[in-house]
Amino acid sequence: MSIDLAFDRDHIWHPYTSMLKPLPVYPVVAADGCELVLENGQRLIDGTASWWSAVHGYNHPELNAAVSNQLGKMAHVMFGGITHQPAVTLCQQLLAMVPANLTKVFLADSGSIAVEVAIKMALQYWLASNMPQKQKLISLRKGYHGDTFAAMAVCDPVDGMHDMFANLLPQHFFLPAPQSRFDGDFQPEDIEALQNLLAEQHHEIAALILEPIVQGYGGMRFYHPEYLRRARALCDQYQVLLIADEIATGFGRSGKLFACEHAGIQPDIMCIGKALSGGYITLAATLCTDDVARGISLSAAGGLMHGPTFMANPLACAVASASLNLISQGHWQQQVAQIEAQLQQELAPCRASALVKDVRVLGAIGVLEMHSKVDVAALQQQFVELGVWIRPFNNLIYIMPPFIITPAQLSKLTGAMRTVVKV
Ligand SMILES: *Cc1c(COP(=O)(O)O)cnc(C)c1O
Repeated sequence: MSIDLAFDRDHIWHPYTSMLKPLPVYPVVAADGCELVLENGQRLIDGTASWWSAVHGYNHPELNAAVSNQLGKMAHVMFGGITHQPAVTLCQQLLAMVPANLTKVFLADSGSIAVEVAIKMALQYWLASNMPQKQKLISLRKGYHGDTFAAMAVCDPVDGMHDMFANLLPQHFFLPAPQSRFDGDFQPEDIEALQNLLAEQHHEIAALILEPIVQGYGGMRFYHPEYLRRARALCDQYQVLLIADEIATGFGRSGKLFACEHAGIQPDIMCIGKALSGGYITLAATLCTDDVARGISLSAAGGLMHGPTFMANPLACAVASASLNLISQGHWQQQVAQIEAQLQQELAPCRASALVKDVRVLGAIGVLEMHSKVDVAALQQQFVELGVWIRPFNNLIYIMPPFIITPAQLSKLTGAMRTVVKV
């Protein structure tokens, strides 16, 4: 029996689409290694790692085994008043990997929720510290932090959904996106807006939230580590918490285990997700320092006021644990370095295309920024015909493949990108 595409079109929402004019969807029946298998038998090389998550590829024997073994014991049990080995093991592994000042873990059920929890932590911390006026956040233009309401309120206010929900969103401060490129010189004026805002308004600011180094869905931009170092220093100077949203960058994607390492800084609160469970089951986490945790626990509420039904789902924790075991073996470093070198080389010719405004590569991320918005449906179809799965949006054609991709598979992706920009 084939997948009922008419039913899907008439009744099921897909991400960011209209029910009246939905974009086409492609029926996938299996995924293995770096390939997606369509219902008609066609195999596509995957350039997306299913939105940054499937870093070890699909149908991985060790990750499969972790889920099956855990399933035989228990699929889920509430986390209120109960603990279990998959959660404890996972958090032990995590704390051994993250910046050393982070010591406490909140297991959340998606990236957006991890951001909600981070914001709640920051606000509750200042309430408990007798500075209740510190309740505003600072965020960067071109930032993206998720789709729930508190997260939406710190996404880019122009490209995000602020207009539509203006009356419902808390009003925060937005700074210009850093202009100093990752691979260029640092322009000191980049940091002036933050410096000035903190000097004037620090008494009402709880935290600065940003995506370290890689601004993802807000524009796939890579900015200079010096910006992050100076932002950290300014947050310390003005008693403002720094929240690093590493949901897209965590676990090697940018060439470092966490993107904060490019700048050698430690955040006060960190969000992780996406690759955490190797792309298997939704799972995210918010980590914080002893100091933040102590502050929250001294607040009137006495604890952190959050607790999802499926918190610390054992299947998700078990597969995340297996994924972190693979990460700990360290092969990702060489894999990502190799992907980066190949992307640099094979995407460079795109600079000659009249359609292309900029070509950028960092770690296992390759980006073509176009002069104008692309026709997603038409381009997607062209990519499928070329045997690859690449999902463009806005004016961006970009890939972040599984780390296990072979040079031949990666060449097929970059070849397709060159084809669509006609070089
Ligand atoms: C994807 C993403 C989120 C949201 O995560 P979801 O799991 O989709 O809710 C938040 N922040 C960043 C930087 C992301 O890339």
